[in-house]
Amino acid sequence: MDDKQKAASSEQTYVDPVCGMTVTAEDSAGSYEYKGTTYYFCGPGCKRSFEKDPEKFLSPDYKPSM
Ligand SMILES: [Zn+2]
Repeated sequence: MDDKQKAASSEQTYVDPVCGMTVTAEDSAGSYEYKGTTYYFCGPGCKRSFEKDPEKFLSPDYKPSM
């Protein structure tokens, strides 16, 4: 069980808030910190979109799409 927990923490995944893809910190194209939370992105395009208007993507009304 301990081994499983270690593996899980070393492969922490994050959801790209722009497109909804799951990325790891290692695979991500970049990260952006907003209001104390770090977001990771699958590509530079998603990161740029998020930087421009973070609130749009964090809104509960926003539906991620590719
Ligand atoms: Zn993305």
